[in-house]
Amino acid sequence: MENKEQQRFPKWERYLSIHEAGHALLAYLWGASFIEIGIADENRTIVFSGGNEHNDCKAACLHSLWHGDELTPDPKAMLSILIAGAAAESVYTGQSIDHLMTKTAKSDSKEISKALEKIQKKACGMPDHSEWMYLRSLSLCKSIVSIYWKDIEALADLVEQKRVTPHPEIINFFESRESLKEARIYQLIDTIDRGEAA
Ligand SMILES: [Zn+2]
Repeated sequence: MENKEQQRFPKWERYLSIHEAGHALLAYLWGASFIEIGIADENRTIVFSGGNEHNDCKAACLHSLWHGDELTPDPKAMLSILIAGAAAESVYTGQSIDHLMTKTAKSDSKEISKALEKIQKKACGMPDHSEWMYLRSLSLCKSIVSIYWKDIEALADLVEQKRVTPHPEIINFFESRESLKEARIYQLIDTIDRGEAA
């Protein structure tokens, strides 16, 4: 029975679920009130739980901090959530984040560029501000992915069990993790900055 159930779906490649779990972890830490992960069918389509259809992609993580054309109040939130897919995938495959940004994280990379343009526009003449913001977000994101690597792997295990993992299951997962019970993003950033965490 279980085998038959598994055969219904094409075998997902692990790097996809690791990548989306990375986005989801950062979205959760930044306080997203809605997170859902979907992996596409053979036609590159995902139908999320609200009937919301995504086309021409392999996988996606929807979350409530996505404002489309607007930056998040702290731009590090938007940037680190966007970077997290490639950051997690990089730990799993050993390929560099820069390389992944030209491959599996191409669409994340486009969104990052758009966000950086907006950040630079708001920087009131501070040269290289968006560059600084990117590097800062990248470094935080890498530390966070490394601290919560076991959680990313466990979430990837969960999302591999079906095409779409709906919001309540993702939130239940995060809330059940002992390692995330006390996690508060700015405390975490502070700890990372003081060099007390990996
Ligand atoms: Zn991504």
